[in-house]
Amino acid sequence: MAEHESLEFGKADFVLLDTVSMEEFMANLKLRFEKGRIYSYIGEVVVSVNPYRAMNIYGRDTIEQYKGRELYERPPHLFAIADAAYKAMKRRNKDTCIVISGESGAGKTEASKYIMQYIAAITNPNQRAEVERVKNMLLKSNCVLEAFGNAKTNRNDNSSRFGKYMDINFDFKGDPIGGHINNYLLEKSRVIFQQEGERSFHSFYQVNVYLHLCHFHSSICLVVALFPFSFQTSINDNADFKAVADAMKVIGFTGDEIQTVYKILATILHLGNLTFGVDGDVTLIENTKQVSVIRDLLSTKEENVEKALLYRTVATGRDVIEKQHTTQEASYGRDALAKAMYERLFCWIVGRINDIIEVKNYDARIHGKNTVIGVLDIYGFEIFQNNSFEQFCINYCNEKLQQLFIQLVLKQEQEEYQREGIPWKHIDYFNNQIIVDLVEQQHKGIFSILDEACMNVGKVTDEVFLQGLDVKLAKHAHFSSRKLSPTDKSLEFDRDFRIRHYAGDVAYSVVGFIDKNKDTLFQDFKRLLYNSSNPVLKGMWPEGKLRITEVTKRPLTAATLFKNSMILLVENLASKEPYYVRCIKPNDVKSPLLFEHERCRHQVEYLGLLENVRVRRAGFAYRQTYPRFLQRYKMISEFTWPNHDLPSDKEAVKKLLQGCRFDHDVAYGKTKVFIRTPRTLFSLEEQRAEM
Ligand code: ATP
Ligand code: MG
Repeated sequence: MAEHESLEFGKADFVLLDTVSMEEFMANLKLRFEKGRIYSYIGEVVVSVNPYRAMNIYGRDTIEQYKGRELYERPPHLFAIADAAYKAMKRRNKDTCIVISGESGAGKTEASKYIMQYIAAITNPNQRAEVERVKNMLLKSNCVLEAFGNAKTNRNDNSSRFGKYMDINFDFKGDPIGGHINNYLLEKSRVIFQQEGERSFHSFYQVNVYLHLCHFHSSICLVVALFPFSFQTSINDNADFKAVADAMKVIGFTGDEIQTVYKILATILHLGNLTFGVDGDVTLIENTKQVSVIRDLLSTKEENVEKALLYRTVATGRDVIEKQHTTQEASYGRDALAKAMYERLFCWIVGRINDIIEVKNYDARIHGKNTVIGVLDIYGFEIFQNNSFEQFCINYCNEKLQQLFIQLVLKQEQEEYQREGIPWKHIDYFNNQIIVDLVEQQHKGIFSILDEACMNVGKVTDEVFLQGLDVKLAKHAHFSSRKLSPTDKSLEFDRDFRIRHYAGDVAYSVVGFIDKNKDTLFQDFKRLLYNSSNPVLKGMWPEGKLRITEVTKRPLTAATLFKNSMILLVENLASKEPYYVRCIKPNDVKSPLLFEHERCRHQVEYLGLLENVRVRRAGFAYRQTYPRFLQRYKMISEFTWPNHDLPSDKEAVKKLLQGCRFDHDVAYGKTKVFIRTPRTLFSLEEQRAEM
């Protein structure tokens, strides 16, 4: 319990609720939010509610308050968890990670930035120049990644459209010496399509500023036409453009690289303006002027651009023929090119940042182990009106993380009991492994069924995929479809299937699954880009080197790539000591005042917070080392006040608790006393107050 906090702000730790029920949980969450206490704990998990207003709790003085302190000494805060992770890393040489989850707009990215700022602020007391440089680059990399990976959506003006895991490496002194970023599943479909009221990635609007600067007048109106500006946004593209350009320079991108980045963005904007038509049986580009602009931007030959857009080279046996696209195929190819160029650009930027920030010349023999704190800021569970392949992947990711959470929280509890020599009692909880298997299992899982459907020769349609699901998963308790449950009202359309996720039921439409999974980009485009005389661009497309007859292997599908990356991510997190931040979005209108009960309740439910409290309490709600326990409660007993003459603090605590008749509710570990029910703790607190 945060001992200095009075109950007027509610219970700082949900574990101390009188009874664990949704009502009590929500009442406490609401009370704390209304009192401006946006952070709470469940044991060592931080629960955060987005305040939607500037809070004066992140400054230098607050940082000083948390530095080096124990978790319960100060009110709940991100800084406390960051400090705990840092201490574990520094004192115990442990790799740690901080997993931040929650839905779009809940405050994950802001939290990850505060955590990084805190770590930057408390490290490098000697102001070593090299460490300062690294810290600066790590912080600046956020700015670049947000420009290219974030966009305004209807839920969040600065929504991360990719998952991010960032490692910060520390030397033996505990100072940052480098880092590494992994990115997951960029929502590249946003490049060609945005919902009403949403925007494409910030970078496009920023480059528009650049195009103005370069007098690229031919494109301006087109750019604006393609992405109609909404002037009421809180986003200042002009200022952001300068900040990002500056950040790229600071990180160490060369002038040529930065130019190429802008050229790629401009190319994509121009691609968006290309239209196709027919003349007789010839497919053609209607606005050929655009082609010349694209040619210049890509430093390639005009006829190559045109050919790549209108023809496809195919190998039939030993022969190589050129097949003309229909207008529909040409449009498909154009969109695929725009998406692929952007995705490749994004991955290339991450790769470049990694090249620059990764630890170099660290000699573990001299300096000892280099330890790591990882910060994961990844999309939360998504249930939209219309859920497609992307939501399916994202929700699978959340199942994986939930599985890890269950395993680790339980495992940690179990380990602590073992360490302290206290018998472990089995705890009942919903284990979502069955849903993880439903998605990822070899041969039987949904991803495998999808890959199989994609491999079919001839008829490859979303319906074939759905049939595969129906056949193979008919008996699965967490799967249903229209065919399997025709009377199910939640399955509105014939092409829907439903997964019973741990966080709730979600109906997915199979439409587009095959296409998004295959994620085809015609080889001709890869060759076009590889043959650019711009070495930076060329370097992004090494596979363009292959001639058509040399391309034999099918590229891995999007589902397989995602699954593999998730498995690696979870393995990595599991190897570290985890800390959790669970973010909650209080309302959908970005109001600092509104606590929408139903919205919040739903999030508490699917974040599994109540379960978390139960797991924590099923064992012992509260635990404290003997000396610290005495420090707080010794005035209650004549045997311990002002000092005790018992052989150990442990004996003294025993004597104290026996005296209060709480003995039945506690267990005595090797170094800590464990109290089962919160009520006991309250009584102790009350007795203390009466003294
Ligand atoms: P997404 O999944 O869409 O990326 P997110 O969980 O990363 O969402 P953020 O971008 O971190 O959400 O937060 C959304 C907005 O909420 C911020 O732009 C900011 O206006 C506000 N916000 C979040 N956290 C805080 C905070 N601690 N203090 C003040 N405002 C905040
Ligand atoms: Mg975010």
